[in-house]
Amino acid sequence: MKAIRVHEFGAPEVMKLEEIPAPQPAAGQVLVRVRAAGVNPADTYMRSGGYAIKPPLPYTPGVDAAGIVEAIGAGVTRAKPGDRVYTSGTLTGAYAELAVAQETQVHPLPERITFPQGAGVYIPYGTAYHALHHSAKAHAAETVLVHGASGGVGIAAVQMAQALGMTVFGTAGTEKGLELAKREGAQQVFHHGRAGYAEEILQATGGRGVDLILEMLANVNLATDLKLLATRGRVIVIGNRGEITINPRELMARRASIRAFTLWAVTEAEAADIHAGLTAGLGNGTLRPVVGKEIPLAEAPRAHKEVMESRAFGKIVLIP
Ligand code: NAP
Repeated sequence: MKAIRVHEFGAPEVMKLEEIPAPQPAAGQVLVRVRAAGVNPADTYMRSGGYAIKPPLPYTPGVDAAGIVEAIGAGVTRAKPGDRVYTSGTLTGAYAELAVAQETQVHPLPERITFPQGAGVYIPYGTAYHALHHSAKAHAAETVLVHGASGGVGIAAVQMAQALGMTVFGTAGTEKGLELAKREGAQQVFHHGRAGYAEEILQATGGRGVDLILEMLANVNLATDLKLLATRGRVIVIGNRGEITINPRELMARRASIRAFTLWAVTEAEAADIHAGLTAGLGNGTLRPVVGKEIPLAEAPRAHKEVMESRAFGKIVLIP
């Protein structure tokens, strides 16, 4: 089978399309024929070698995939050949024609969701779910600012918060991104690159502030975020690419808090919640992954460059 292989950490070009033996599922494992693989910023951090998670070399990148179960190992009860599934990680890597996953890493993909959409489920929607429900404990009567509402996690968070009944604000850095955030459910949108956007957000709350901020770029926005919070507001740090100075007094004055997480560390019980919520939302149409670009598997290096430039207006997915 064809798969992307990384033999050394480095620039996107270290990813090469190679012919390697097809993996076989052992007991408790599932073999998935990958129809689309999702490209996430974390895939690029891992490939560069500068991330907390360093896979043993050589490896095949990719966590998110969608496809059809091809075969199952002994004792597998949760999936059978022919099932449509999305993955929350695999054992052999998603950027490939076939991938082996633990039985617990495959989840039913409702018929209404295409395979490219399915490749944009776990990391974006799992992160949005964990941020809103487990970390923030969000309520319908609250106002949430999705700071970075035009990307993978942001679109997921906007759809989910709207389904929850919250008042949803979103930010983006282009007119097209602002339109996308609005189309997916943000009631009001703000351009994060324009001077004065923070004042506009405060004004939109009548000066009260927002209850919750889901932050995609904390190293740029965190200090300003604290000034936008209502009493007992929370900032949930989802994305961060550097350091920033904040004034903790902004938190004290509001009894506010900053919380943060990585999706890698969710507990078994949280994972069960996440997949139950995602499967239901995908099935009833409240969660609708947006595919921005489909790129052939061989062009994985281009996909890694483009995901870091943002502006995909939805998920970038690789098609084997
Ligand atoms: P993505 O699809 O590339 O989207 C990036 C988003 O960030 C876009 O909406 C972009 O908006 C926005 N953005 C760019 N500059 C910004 C700024 N100055 N202020 C606010 N937003 C800004 O990436 P993603 O998959 O959604 O992931 C977002 C971030 O979360 C990444 O850093 C990723 O590594 C991280 N993440 C963390 C976890 C976790 O477990 N904690 C899980 C998933 C993702 P425009 O393009 O419109 O400017």
